Amino acid sequence: MTSAADASNPRNPAQIKAVCLDLDDTLLDSQSAARSSLRELLGTDRAWPVWERTTDRYYARFVNAQLPFDVMCVERTRAFFAAFGEHIDYAEAERRENQRMEAMQRAWGLFDDALDCLDWMRASGLRLAAVTNAPSAYQRKKLAAVGLADAFDAVVISGEIGVAKPDPRIFHTACERLGLQAHEVAHVGDRLTTDAEGAARAGLSGIWLNRDQVPAPRGSAEHPVATITSLRELPELLVTEIAVPDFADLVGQTP
Ligand SMILES: [Mg+2]
Repeated sequence: MTSAADASNPRNPAQIKAVCLDLDDTLLDSQSAARSSLRELLGTDRAWPVWERTTDRYYARFVNAQLPFDVMCVERTRAFFAAFGEHIDYAEAERRENQRMEAMQRAWGLFDDALDCLDWMRASGLRLAAVTNAPSAYQRKKLAAVGLADAFDAVVISGEIGVAKPDPRIFHTACERLGLQAHEVAHVGDRLTTDAEGAARAGLSGIWLNRDQVPAPRGSAEHPVATITSLRELPELLVTEIAVPDFADLVGQTP
Protein backbone atom coordinates (compact mmCIF):
# COMPACT_ATOMS: atom_id res chain seq x y z
CA MET A 1 0.00 0.00 0.00
CA THR A 2 1.28 3.42 -0.88
CA SER A 3 2.14 5.45 2.21
CA ALA A 4 3.03 8.66 0.42
CA ALA A 5 1.24 10.71 -2.17
CA ASP A 6 2.03 9.28 -5.56
CA ALA A 7 3.77 11.82 -7.76
CA SER A 8 1.84 10.44 -10.73
CA ASN A 9 -1.46 11.14 -9.02
CA PRO A 10 -3.04 14.06 -10.87
CA ARG A 11 -4.38 15.51 -7.62
CA ASN A 12 -1.09 14.89 -5.84
CA PRO A 13 -2.22 16.18 -2.46
CA ALA A 14 0.61 16.71 0.01
CA GLN A 15 -1.36 15.39 2.96
CA ILE A 16 -5.01 14.92 3.63
CA LYS A 17 -5.69 15.94 7.22
CA ALA A 18 -9.46 16.30 7.10
CA VAL A 19 -12.44 14.99 5.19
CA CYS A 20 -15.61 16.92 4.42
CA LEU A 21 -18.73 14.92 3.72
CA ASP A 22 -21.99 15.81 2.07
CA LEU A 23 -25.03 14.64 4.07
CA ASP A 24 -27.96 13.82 1.78
CA ASP A 25 -27.46 10.62 -0.23
CA THR A 26 -23.87 10.44 1.02
CA LEU A 27 -24.22 9.67 4.75
CA LEU A 28 -28.03 9.72 4.93
CA ASP A 29 -30.19 7.63 2.64
CA SER A 30 -32.37 10.62 1.86
CA GLN A 31 -33.71 9.17 -1.36
CA SER A 32 -35.15 6.12 0.41
CA ALA A 33 -36.73 8.37 3.04
CA ALA A 34 -38.27 10.61 0.37
CA ARG A 35 -39.52 7.64 -1.59
CA SER A 36 -41.04 6.14 1.54
CA SER A 37 -42.78 9.44 2.31
CA LEU A 38 -44.28 9.53 -1.17
CA ARG A 39 -45.55 5.97 -0.68
CA GLU A 40 -47.15 7.00 2.59
CA LEU A 41 -48.81 10.02 0.98
CA LEU A 42 -50.07 8.29 -2.18
CA GLY A 43 -50.16 4.60 -1.32
CA THR A 44 -47.63 3.95 -4.10
CA ASP A 45 -44.28 5.29 -5.26
CA ARG A 46 -44.86 4.68 -8.96
CA ALA A 47 -44.70 8.43 -9.52
CA TRP A 48 -41.19 8.62 -8.02
CA PRO A 49 -39.48 9.68 -11.30
CA VAL A 50 -41.90 12.63 -11.60
CA TRP A 51 -41.24 13.53 -7.96
CA GLU A 52 -37.47 13.44 -8.55
CA ARG A 53 -37.67 15.64 -11.64
CA THR A 54 -39.97 18.11 -9.89
CA THR A 55 -37.70 18.18 -6.84
CA ASP A 56 -34.58 18.85 -8.94
CA ARG A 57 -36.33 21.74 -10.64
CA TYR A 58 -37.64 23.33 -7.44
CA TYR A 59 -34.60 22.61 -5.26
CA ALA A 60 -32.47 24.55 -7.73
CA ARG A 61 -34.74 27.54 -7.14
CA PHE A 62 -34.10 27.24 -3.38
CA VAL A 63 -30.33 26.88 -3.86
CA ASN A 64 -30.36 29.94 -6.13
CA ALA A 65 -32.22 31.89 -3.42
CA GLN A 66 -35.31 32.33 -5.64
CA LEU A 67 -37.61 30.65 -3.11
CA PRO A 68 -37.45 30.16 0.67
CA PHE A 69 -37.14 26.48 1.58
CA ASP A 70 -40.63 26.05 3.08
CA VAL A 71 -42.30 27.77 0.14
CA MET A 72 -40.22 25.71 -2.29
CA CYS A 73 -41.40 22.49 -0.60
CA VAL A 74 -45.07 23.46 -0.90
CA GLU A 75 -44.76 24.73 -4.47
CA ARG A 76 -42.87 21.55 -5.42
CA THR A 77 -45.69 19.41 -4.03
CA ARG A 78 -48.27 21.57 -5.81
CA ALA A 79 -46.38 21.22 -9.12
CA PHE A 80 -46.11 17.45 -8.60
CA PHE A 81 -49.88 17.04 -8.33
CA ALA A 82 -50.43 19.45 -11.23
CA ALA A 83 -48.27 17.15 -13.38
CA PHE A 84 -51.05 14.57 -12.96
CA GLY A 85 -53.82 17.07 -13.69
CA GLU A 86 -54.78 17.74 -10.06
CA HIS A 87 -54.66 21.48 -9.42
CA ILE A 88 -54.72 22.22 -5.68
CA ASP A 89 -54.45 25.52 -3.85
CA TYR A 90 -51.48 26.51 -1.68
CA ALA A 91 -53.20 25.55 1.61
CA GLU A 92 -54.00 22.05 0.39
CA ALA A 93 -50.48 21.62 -1.01
CA GLU A 94 -49.10 22.73 2.36
CA ARG A 95 -51.27 20.19 4.19
CA ARG A 96 -50.08 17.35 1.95
CA GLU A 97 -46.46 18.51 2.14
CA ASN A 98 -46.59 18.61 5.96
CA GLN A 99 -47.95 15.06 5.98
CA ARG A 100 -45.22 13.92 3.60
CA MET A 101 -42.47 15.76 5.50
CA GLU A 102 -43.48 14.10 8.79
CA ALA A 103 -43.36 10.69 7.11
CA MET A 104 -39.96 11.45 5.61
CA GLN A 105 -38.49 12.56 8.91
CA ARG A 106 -39.63 9.32 10.52
CA ALA A 107 -37.75 7.48 7.75
CA TRP A 108 -34.44 9.40 7.99
CA GLY A 109 -31.55 6.98 8.44
CA LEU A 110 -27.89 6.46 7.66
CA PHE A 111 -26.53 4.21 4.95
CA ASP A 112 -25.11 1.06 6.52
CA ASP A 113 -21.57 1.99 5.46
CA ALA A 114 -21.64 5.45 7.09
CA LEU A 115 -20.83 4.85 10.76
CA ASP A 116 -17.93 2.46 10.21
CA CYS A 117 -16.37 4.91 7.79
CA LEU A 118 -16.81 7.87 10.15
CA ASP A 119 -15.42 5.84 13.06
CA TRP A 120 -12.40 4.77 11.01
CA MET A 121 -11.61 8.31 9.91
CA ARG A 122 -11.96 9.61 13.45
CA ALA A 123 -9.73 6.81 14.81
CA SER A 124 -7.20 7.64 12.11
CA GLY A 125 -6.83 11.18 13.37
CA LEU A 126 -8.60 12.82 10.46
CA ARG A 127 -10.73 15.85 11.23
CA LEU A 128 -14.27 15.74 9.87
CA ALA A 129 -16.69 18.30 8.50
CA ALA A 130 -20.18 18.16 7.07
CA VAL A 131 -20.77 20.40 4.05
CA THR A 132 -24.37 20.54 2.91
CA ASN A 133 -26.79 22.58 0.80
CA ALA A 134 -29.99 23.15 2.77
CA PRO A 135 -31.52 25.35 5.45
CA SER A 136 -29.81 25.42 8.83
CA ALA A 137 -32.59 24.19 11.12
CA TYR A 138 -33.60 21.43 8.71
CA GLN A 139 -30.07 19.99 8.43
CA ARG A 140 -29.31 20.30 12.14
CA LYS A 141 -32.56 18.49 12.94
CA LYS A 142 -31.53 15.82 10.44
CA LEU A 143 -28.05 15.43 11.99
CA ALA A 144 -29.57 15.06 15.45
CA ALA A 145 -32.16 12.54 14.21
CA VAL A 146 -29.46 10.19 12.91
CA GLY A 147 -27.10 10.66 15.88
CA LEU A 148 -24.52 12.82 14.11
CA ALA A 149 -25.09 16.12 15.94
CA ASP A 150 -21.62 15.91 17.55
CA ALA A 151 -19.85 13.85 14.88
CA PHE A 152 -18.05 16.72 13.12
CA ASP A 153 -15.39 19.30 13.91
CA ALA A 154 -17.24 21.69 11.61
CA VAL A 155 -20.73 21.78 10.13
CA VAL A 156 -21.03 24.09 7.14
CA ILE A 157 -24.58 24.63 5.90
CA SER A 158 -25.40 26.76 2.88
CA GLY A 159 -28.40 28.22 4.69
CA GLU A 160 -26.10 29.58 7.40
CA ILE A 161 -23.34 31.09 5.26
CA GLY A 162 -25.29 32.26 2.22
CA VAL A 163 -23.41 30.31 -0.44
CA ALA A 164 -24.02 26.78 -1.68
CA LYS A 165 -21.97 24.04 -3.30
CA PRO A 166 -20.41 24.10 -5.87
CA ASP A 167 -19.42 27.69 -4.99
CA PRO A 168 -15.76 27.49 -3.85
CA ARG A 169 -16.54 29.74 -0.89
CA ILE A 170 -18.47 27.04 0.95
CA PHE A 171 -15.52 24.64 0.64
CA HIS A 172 -13.08 27.37 1.72
CA THR A 173 -15.28 28.12 4.74
CA ALA A 174 -15.02 24.46 5.73
CA CYS A 175 -11.22 24.57 5.39
CA GLU A 176 -11.02 27.75 7.48
CA ARG A 177 -13.14 26.21 10.22
CA LEU A 178 -10.93 23.14 10.17
CA GLY A 179 -7.83 25.36 10.33
CA LEU A 180 -6.41 23.76 7.18
CA GLN A 181 -5.41 24.65 3.63
CA ALA A 182 -7.61 23.44 0.78
CA HIS A 183 -4.97 20.97 -0.45
CA GLU A 184 -5.03 19.31 2.99
CA VAL A 185 -8.75 18.52 2.76
CA ALA A 186 -10.84 16.04 0.76
CA HIS A 187 -14.56 16.31 0.10
CA VAL A 188 -16.84 13.36 -0.57
CA GLY A 189 -20.33 13.62 -2.03
CA ASP A 190 -22.86 11.91 -4.25
CA ARG A 191 -23.15 14.72 -6.79
CA LEU A 192 -20.34 14.79 -9.33
CA THR A 193 -20.67 18.46 -10.28
CA THR A 194 -21.93 19.91 -7.00
CA ASP A 195 -19.65 17.93 -4.69
CA ALA A 196 -16.59 16.34 -6.29
CA GLU A 197 -15.87 18.75 -9.13
CA GLY A 198 -16.89 21.77 -7.04
CA ALA A 199 -14.45 20.72 -4.33
CA ALA A 200 -11.69 20.05 -6.86
CA ARG A 201 -12.17 23.50 -8.38
CA ALA A 202 -11.80 24.96 -4.87
CA GLY A 203 -8.46 23.18 -4.47
CA LEU A 204 -9.61 20.24 -2.32
CA SER A 205 -9.37 16.59 -3.33
CA GLY A 206 -12.76 15.88 -4.87
CA ILE A 207 -14.23 12.41 -4.36
CA TRP A 208 -17.42 11.35 -6.13
CA LEU A 209 -19.50 8.75 -4.28
CA ASN A 210 -21.22 7.07 -7.20
CA ARG A 211 -23.42 4.64 -5.24
CA ASP A 212 -25.63 3.77 -8.22
CA GLN A 213 -22.60 3.26 -10.46
CA VAL A 214 -24.06 5.47 -13.15
CA PRO A 215 -21.85 5.92 -16.20
CA ALA A 216 -19.49 8.80 -15.55
CA PRO A 217 -19.75 11.73 -17.94
CA ARG A 218 -16.55 12.97 -19.48
CA GLY A 219 -14.49 14.27 -16.57
CA SER A 220 -12.72 17.57 -16.22
CA ALA A 221 -9.06 17.19 -17.11
CA GLU A 222 -8.32 20.40 -15.26
CA HIS A 223 -9.95 19.29 -11.99
CA PRO A 224 -9.86 15.47 -11.85
CA VAL A 225 -11.77 13.68 -9.14
CA ALA A 226 -11.57 10.20 -7.62
CA THR A 227 -14.60 7.90 -7.69
CA ILE A 228 -15.82 5.38 -5.12
CA THR A 229 -19.05 3.36 -5.14
CA SER A 230 -19.35 2.87 -1.37
CA LEU A 231 -18.00 4.58 1.74
CA ARG A 232 -16.31 1.26 2.46
CA GLU A 233 -13.86 2.18 -0.31
CA LEU A 234 -13.02 5.54 1.24
CA PRO A 235 -10.40 4.46 3.82
CA GLU A 236 -8.24 2.73 1.22
CA LEU A 237 -8.53 5.69 -1.13
CA LEU A 238 -7.52 8.06 1.67
CA VAL A 239 -4.59 5.89 2.69
CA THR A 240 -3.24 6.01 -0.83
CA GLU A 241 -3.57 9.80 -0.74
CA ILE A 242 -1.92 10.41 2.61
CA ALA A 243 1.73 11.04 3.31
CA VAL A 244 1.64 10.51 7.08
CA PRO A 245 4.45 7.93 7.57
CA ASP A 246 2.70 5.59 10.01
CA PHE A 247 -0.70 5.95 8.41
CA ALA A 248 -0.29 2.84 6.30
CA ASP A 249 -0.35 0.79 9.51
CA LEU A 250 -4.05 1.55 9.69
CA VAL A 251 -4.78 -0.05 6.36
CA GLY A 252 -5.36 -3.44 7.93
CA GLN A 253 -8.03 -1.94 10.13
CA THR A 254 -10.13 -0.53 7.30
CA PRO A 255 -13.82 -1.39 7.71
MG1 LIG B 1 -25.99 14.84 -1.65
